[in-house]
Amino acid sequence: MIRKLLRRVFSGRSSPSAQPQVVPRSKHGLSKDKISSSARRVTAGLQEKGFAAYVVGGAVRDLLLGLEPKDFDIATDATPEQVRSVFRRSRIIGRRFRLVHVMFGEDTVEVSTFRARQGGEQEDQRADEHGRILRDNVFGTQEEDATRRDFTINAMFYDPTTEQILDFCDGLDDLKARRLRMIGDPDQRYREDPVRMLRAVRLSAKLGLKIEADTRAPIKSLAPLLANVPSSRLFEEMMKLLFSGHATACLLQLRQEGLHHGLLPMLDVILEQPMGERFVMMALKSTDERVRADKSISPGFLFAALLWHEVLAAWKQSQEEGLSPLPALFKAMDHVIHIQAEKLSIPKRFGSDMKDIWALQPRFLGRSGRRPYSVLAHPRFRAAYDFLVLRCDSGEVDAEIAEWWENFQKADEETRKQMLLPDRSPRKRRRRRKPAGGNAEPGAAPTGSE
Ligand code: ATP
Ligand code: MG
Repeated sequence: MIRKLLRRVFSGRSSPSAQPQVVPRSKHGLSKDKISSSARRVTAGLQEKGFAAYVVGGAVRDLLLGLEPKDFDIATDATPEQVRSVFRRSRIIGRRFRLVHVMFGEDTVEVSTFRARQGGEQEDQRADEHGRILRDNVFGTQEEDATRRDFTINAMFYDPTTEQILDFCDGLDDLKARRLRMIGDPDQRYREDPVRMLRAVRLSAKLGLKIEADTRAPIKSLAPLLANVPSSRLFEEMMKLLFSGHATACLLQLRQEGLHHGLLPMLDVILEQPMGERFVMMALKSTDERVRADKSISPGFLFAALLWHEVLAAWKQSQEEGLSPLPALFKAMDHVIHIQAEKLSIPKRFGSDMKDIWALQPRFLGRSGRRPYSVLAHPRFRAAYDFLVLRCDSGEVDAEIAEWWENFQKADEETRKQMLLPDRSPRKRRRRRKPAGGNAEPGAAPTGSE
């Protein structure tokens, strides 16, 4: 007992102590009222049966920063089967690590059993040749569960019953200093799971935290390890990053840390072209604004925007090789999606949105006859039109074209007919060529501005 106390008093700050700091509400200020009633019911239910149960991870961190958590995760010493037996409406999920989902009405609370630190000798823990952990389904103590987490600020346990925080890794101090610090040896922890590098960037950009020097140092040289992470996991993390409401800051920081190569391979090229950079930044800014205003967002739209200037370049090249504009565009789209898929493949459902948005772009230049009507009736008209506006705003296309479409949408039938007069679209007449296939659109140069 005394030895434990001494160890606690003398333990170094950077190494996690077996005994946590127990911080009362008077010191941290977090009231149990901030915890969702479902999460409180879970901790109380487990505690009544004699188990330990805490709110943990991102929720504690976000609440201490005065932000609204996305969800409340619970950590416990009960096994998944024991958790399952406490709550009638619950089910065990997950293959890699088994979790329990406890349902209350619409609400689902995720409960996980304390897990051991990765990288041990156990049978169930295997790593690839770079040190990446392939399996980590080993139960552990609460202390181990704290230290297997990524950053100190993500490793605090909050007990809604006592309103105490159990802090094994000095997360509270780091949070107060607005510092993002890796638990353990950063180099090793990134090797175990390279996604932690992306999490470092996302959390620091989103929460306005500075990545502590030792935590930041290995990132540049370990960035290539992202290539070994399964594409689906990278995509998931990329989605979190792009739709965090802080995508602009995240992407700038990714670039700064040299982490963008493995994600959107063309991003570095794009960002180096002034027009491309402007376009991407505007797309990110509008996404950030929509996320922060709680408006719906379309991943297909944003991915279409991120890769647009690559499509433009490939489109131009295909035309220079002799293809007529429309087949050249389709070839360019396939080419860009194919290259992208080698690094981080975009799920099919978003891929088809992207292609529709891209393929509609030249059709905005056809403003005579029935053509504008078929564009207007296209199910992706709205997204494609918003995309056109972005192209105009970034200076790629004459603003007049987006204005025409804005007016055309709102106009009554009679006005629309008048708008179709050929002298309202001299550009199109000049460019009109015989369509290659039956009802293909007339050709258009990749850019409508020159
Ligand atoms: P947000 O929900 O805002 O994305 P979060 O920190 O809650 O952030 P989750 O993915 O929900 O992120 O993870 C919950 C917790 O699990 C984290 O707070 C952290 O403690 C732990 N964790 C998540 N990913 C990792 C990882 N790659 N390595 C170690 N621990 C992790
Ligand atoms: Mg979370």
